[in-house]
Amino acid sequence: MNISDKVERLIRPEIRASHAYSVPEATGMVKLDAMENPYPWPSEVKQAWLETLREVQVNRYPDPDPGRLKQLLGEAMGAPPGTGLLLGNGSDELIQIVLLATARPDACVLAPVPTFVMYQVIANAVGMRFVGVPLGRDFVLDVPAMREALQHHKPAVTFIAYPNNPSGNLFAADAIEGLIAAAPGLVVIDEAYFAFTDASFIARLPDLDNLLVLRTLSKMGLAGLRLGFLLGAEAWLREFNKVRLPYNINSLTQASVELLLRKRDFMAKQIQHIRAERQRLFATLKSLPGVKPWPSETNFLLFRVPDARQVYDALFAAGVLVKNLDAADKTLEGCLRVTVGTPQENDVFLDALKRILTT
Ligand SMILES: *Cc1c(COP(=O)(O)O)cnc(C)c1O
Repeated sequence: MNISDKVERLIRPEIRASHAYSVPEATGMVKLDAMENPYPWPSEVKQAWLETLREVQVNRYPDPDPGRLKQLLGEAMGAPPGTGLLLGNGSDELIQIVLLATARPDACVLAPVPTFVMYQVIANAVGMRFVGVPLGRDFVLDVPAMREALQHHKPAVTFIAYPNNPSGNLFAADAIEGLIAAAPGLVVIDEAYFAFTDASFIARLPDLDNLLVLRTLSKMGLAGLRLGFLLGAEAWLREFNKVRLPYNINSLTQASVELLLRKRDFMAKQIQHIRAERQRLFATLKSLPGVKPWPSETNFLLFRVPDARQVYDALFAAGVLVKNLDAADKTLEGCLRVTVGTPQENDVFLDALKRILTT
């Protein structure tokens, strides 16, 4: 038997049919594809950081449950008293932990679509069925369809990205409240973009016992450190913690994030700049003929152009990397997603786009 026959015999068909998450090579590009914070750290913060790292004992395992870091994080996020916190290697890992713990043979995962693809990718990987409920026009939540899907499929877990990726909008809070009340299972409100909006479900945690709030430090500026956290009742987190691999948060990340939380004022300023630039980008995109941007509560903008493939390729040739969502969902036909960069990066993007659209 040759190796491909062995692979076919052993690897589950749904895994063989899936694709690994692919990230395009971006060396030398103006990188506006992955919702990263474009700003460097002030040199005094970098200095203090390097001194902290010097003391880290990488020959030892990391703290398996870093209490002080969790407390600092909870305070920084305004977690209500009594709320528990579970750390993950990025919020991606926490999505995986929640689904590993709930993956009964007949359990399913539900989310409005288009949305963050990892809900479906991870559901598939752990052997759960994924049900996507199409969003309405301009990516608003289809509340009757969501209610019906909750009743019909009885999902173990419902994910709602708030704000949503890739559309950038917030769904109506009262509609979400109604869905949480109607859901027979857990509802995870994914607040990956919390830094770029004023809306949140964190304050609702003490009142809604099937609600979990997921956050990450990635989009606000620490994507390379991989730290996400899940907030909710201890009764849930205690169970999820049994599925978490020991030492999932490495020592360098623990030390770095603790320092960063103490010095986070500079990051708040960077986020203000990003929010201001988002408005400038939106206004400029809106003024371009044939371009439709959607309003955003995140650090990216979704916009439609007459020919997404051609515009994507021409931007790429001009050294600007954005995300092409044209083929991701039928509601995203013609759509590209651009991360808000520095003013200079945004100008490079806008100048290239104007040139492409007028030639
Ligand atoms: C980027 C993103 C994440 C993943 O963040 P990590 O913490 O870097 O794994 C989760 N949810 C949404 C909606 C995102 O856009």
